[in-house]
Amino acid sequence: MYHLPVLKNRRTLLERAEKFISDMYFTDCNLRGRLYGDSCPLQSIDSFLSSKRITFTEASNQTFAPYKVGDTFGPTWWTCWFKVTLNIPESWRGKEVHLRWESDGEAMVWRDEQPVQGLSKEGEKTSYILSDCVKDEEPHSVTLYVEMACNGLFGAGQGSMIAAPDPNRKFSVQKADLVVFNRDVQEMLTDFEMLIDIVKELGEGEQRGFQALFTVNEMVNLCDPSDPSSFSRAHSLAHTFFSQRNGDSQHVAHAMGHCHIDSAWLWPYEETIRKCGRSWVTVIRLMEKNPEFVFTCSQAQQFQWVKSWYPGLFSEIQHYVKKGRFIPVGGTWVEMDGNLPSGESMVRQFLEGQRFFNREFGIHCNEFWLPDTFGYSAQLPQIMQGSGISNFLTQKLSWNLVNTFPHNTFFWEGLDGSKVLTHFPPGNSYEMKGKVEELVKTVKNNKDKGRANHSAVLFGFGDGGGGPTQLMLDRLQRVQDTDGLPKVQMSSPDKLFSQLQADSALLCTWTGELFLELHNGTYTTQAKIKQGNRQCETLLHDIEIASSLALCRDKTFIYPVEKLQELWRLLLLNQFHDVIPGSCIEMVVDDALRYYEDIRTEVLPCCTMPVEPSVQKETPLRHEVIQMHEGPGTPDLALVRVPSIGVSPVGDTKPVAPVTITGQADGTLLMENGILRTVVNKDGTLASLYLINANREAISDSCHGNQFVMFDDVPLYWDAWDVMDYHLQTRKPVVEVVQPPHLVYSDGLRGSVRFTLRISDKSTITQEIIMDAMCPYIKFNTKVTWAESHKFLKVEFPVRVRSPNATYEIQFGHLQRPTHRNTSWDWARFEVWGHKWADLSEHNFGVALLNDCKYGYSVHKNTMTLSLLRAPKAPDVNADMGTHQFTYAIMPHTGSFQDASVIQAAYNLNFPLRPIRCPADTEPWSAFSISTAAVILETIKQAEDRMGALVVRLYESHGSSVTATLRTTFPIREAWHCDLLEKPDPTRPAHITSGGITLDFSPFQIVSLLLVF
Ligand SMILES: [Zn+2]
Repeated sequence: MYHLPVLKNRRTLLERAEKFISDMYFTDCNLRGRLYGDSCPLQSIDSFLSSKRITFTEASNQTFAPYKVGDTFGPTWWTCWFKVTLNIPESWRGKEVHLRWESDGEAMVWRDEQPVQGLSKEGEKTSYILSDCVKDEEPHSVTLYVEMACNGLFGAGQGSMIAAPDPNRKFSVQKADLVVFNRDVQEMLTDFEMLIDIVKELGEGEQRGFQALFTVNEMVNLCDPSDPSSFSRAHSLAHTFFSQRNGDSQHVAHAMGHCHIDSAWLWPYEETIRKCGRSWVTVIRLMEKNPEFVFTCSQAQQFQWVKSWYPGLFSEIQHYVKKGRFIPVGGTWVEMDGNLPSGESMVRQFLEGQRFFNREFGIHCNEFWLPDTFGYSAQLPQIMQGSGISNFLTQKLSWNLVNTFPHNTFFWEGLDGSKVLTHFPPGNSYEMKGKVEELVKTVKNNKDKGRANHSAVLFGFGDGGGGPTQLMLDRLQRVQDTDGLPKVQMSSPDKLFSQLQADSALLCTWTGELFLELHNGTYTTQAKIKQGNRQCETLLHDIEIASSLALCRDKTFIYPVEKLQELWRLLLLNQFHDVIPGSCIEMVVDDALRYYEDIRTEVLPCCTMPVEPSVQKETPLRHEVIQMHEGPGTPDLALVRVPSIGVSPVGDTKPVAPVTITGQADGTLLMENGILRTVVNKDGTLASLYLINANREAISDSCHGNQFVMFDDVPLYWDAWDVMDYHLQTRKPVVEVVQPPHLVYSDGLRGSVRFTLRISDKSTITQEIIMDAMCPYIKFNTKVTWAESHKFLKVEFPVRVRSPNATYEIQFGHLQRPTHRNTSWDWARFEVWGHKWADLSEHNFGVALLNDCKYGYSVHKNTMTLSLLRAPKAPDVNADMGTHQFTYAIMPHTGSFQDASVIQAAYNLNFPLRPIRCPADTEPWSAFSISTAAVILETIKQAEDRMGALVVRLYESHGSSVTATLRTTFPIREAWHCDLLEKPDPTRPAHITSGGITLDFSPFQIVSLLLVF
């Protein structure tokens, strides 16, 4: 018998097999060259160009003109509609026939007025299957429409993906024809590809790799591309290899189709609607052909879009949701940023999301799904648990620039001790392709080997949409149980997490925030979005309280349920993980700012309606100076004392100590209000900040507070996202004075001085330093004209405090981060996020730095720094250019920041008292109050499912265990503890006494109550 001379040359055997399926080499004689059979041109293609995204009905009624393949059209963001007529040749009976469509824009095929298939070259979808096997009774003459967006999967970046879009790009269709598709060749190609990849991925150290090598080599010998009858012997060799099974202990990969669609990023919101349509209709086509296929899909907002734009597709989705194959996941309105939204905003993400999924599909999500955000608040575990969620899937920490996160499967313990089972897919991706390499990585990278034997494999093109392909499904189908690779099963989040939960005895616990050591510029980029978010969170808070109180006082008052839901949803949408971080293109910024304006326009007039009481936060008492009317001219000021969540008439109260401003011989200005005394230098910095009663100077020796500093800010790639550690080496103080500090106003209630500094010939800072009577902090109302490029503006306060940790406010609480750079975990946090305040305290003295719309902080040693403005050029070339107005404040204090009411001061800075017109005899009145300053009454709103009942949300803010009494002037009939989805716990009625409702809190605990009147 003739013996085949197979020499011991791994390289030539492997490359021989690779060339056999290459799409570049030897396609005249290799297997790849046989993928397509005969082709024929389309009968006609006509086109119509639209500047807007219009409906099918509108488009199909337009006048179409003949189009020639190769002709260009555009520009970017327009839409070209094609009307395609085709005739399948008689001779193609029994063949699989595709419409082949290659274009540089994303497209949707419409047939019989319905969307049927998404097409995208970048997403490896370039054909629409007209027939699996042409039969006589099928229509051979077909008319289709193709809706082609003038943008790619990742927008239209000029030169690179994240560069600003090229507004003038031209697009074309490069190929449009009918073609016979040889499915048997495709099946063989997949066999070959998987075996070749096994050879490569298992390497020379594993005998299994060599078994794959000789199998694939023998298949090349057997397979004659020109003779399909030779395929079956080759295929059966492959089948034998794939069927050699693993032992019982092998790792299990839970494969789930997925399509990460950024709700806006390098394209505007409007295009995302079509991305959802294109991606999801393709998923439905795959489901029809692959009965095992399961697809996970997050973000209620995107379902809502599809429901209104593609109702037919939405009912198909509902059908597959019922079958448990199209699985809504995550439970949130959008996949929001994990750092910047307020605590209440995060609650609303889950409230709107879970309620939507329940209403539309009758399901409740058991997992939070946030693969792609730039850090994760330490309060998320409690908010998840409060929303009926115990599992969490993400993976972004694999992007850490400095430290490798030590776990893939672990318990994540939040600020209050709540725990959620957390899984980072070890393949470090949410858009895998079903390749051998990813399966091998899933086992190799798993940092919990021996502890967790199950992992998620999320497959499908993502970020810009696209989703899974038939090829990905075919790949995974081949290796369901193939010795040497993990077992692969089509799965669901519930199956994965219940397996992980069932075998969780050895899992580790990570306590506190999941900090991403990258993208730290996103706390500052696009300052107007940050400001819009903070202000609108405040406005919605106020209008909900005002409406709730109006409801309590007048049962006929109609609580604006629908309007508030609509406005909340706009705010929540803008919290998407590429919008609020500022990592989006200019068109998205414009949309986002417009949504904030919509919220302001709707809410602001209502906040001052005469029927509403003057709303304010939950201090026992606010004693402060307010400005009665906004606008230019001399401010109309008054000193008021307002009880908690109530009203008080504005009287003619005089301060205990008036504010004074005195010019000194050396040209400095001395400002004093009986609490603080400060000296303003000729360049606007503070030479001294003195806490009078404590006899303590707050500013560090021979240093100045309120020092503006500029840094060069050139990251390695991710422009809008990243500020790198090395920027700290480029610090330059802003010292050029245009106008030195001069007195603006002084009347005993308020004193203020103003000055102007020059940053460069294009940028200036004008600041008003304001001291109010009775106020424990100094405000800095700041206006910056900003036209820089790759610069970072910050303000520094070197303070006379020594502490190894600084404290930062986060959602419903606060946490500490180090002020030193001992370990890599410490110095990787050179730029961190916080909400309304940060504090640096030693025993019995500290300084807090408050802000009204900033999120980026750093405290190194004794210097507290607030990040103000950046100037990245991609993906928005005009990011942050223009004029900015913001306020920060400095507050030295004795005791702890808790006892010194820093938290309250930060609320007061962010939630202004609102003057309203009342009858002259109005008595001071308080609707709700709390017996301890440790507990904050954060939210009062009408209950979702119970008209006339209220939900109030409180949290423990000091980090202490306390008992508090909630008092109200309204007669409460019933009070129940409820979860964040407002489901009352029938076993936990709240205890109502004549003094109020008594509540026990553990540190940072969030408590929600349902109050029935
Ligand atoms: Zn994303």
